[in-house]
Amino acid sequence: MNKTIFEKIAAREIPADIVYEDDLVVAFKDIHPQAPTHVLLVPRKPIPRINEATTEDQALLGHLLLKAAEVARRLGLDQRGYRLVINNGAEGGESVPHLHCHILGGRHMRWPPG
Ligand code: AMP
Repeated sequence: MNKTIFEKIAAREIPADIVYEDDLVVAFKDIHPQAPTHVLLVPRKPIPRINEATTEDQALLGHLLLKAAEVARRLGLDQRGYRLVINNGAEGGESVPHLHCHILGGRHMRWPPG
């Protein structure tokens, strides 16, 4: 299997502005930011999308969500608020087939999302 672009970033084979990493997840700045702060948090394991996650991934997914909140705090977003987004499939707006959580903050978020 070819590596996904996010696996290559996690392995530091292609450059990215990494803001957090541990043995399970990596967070880096989105190359096309949609808010003043826009970071992607990805598991090192290349789960294509949340629809393909299984009960085997339960602990990893819990870790991902808790780390999303921790990274948001580290980035100073927790006081004013922020948004976490996971896009799934074509109509969900997914463009990279490696599960990732968008962490967006620094501006007021609208609802409903586009
Ligand atoms: P999604 O549309 O939910 O699949 O989100 C994929 C995100 O990955 C988009 O916001 C892209 O801007 C971002 N992206 C794609 N390639 C890179 C890259 N090399 N470094 C950082 N972010 C990227």
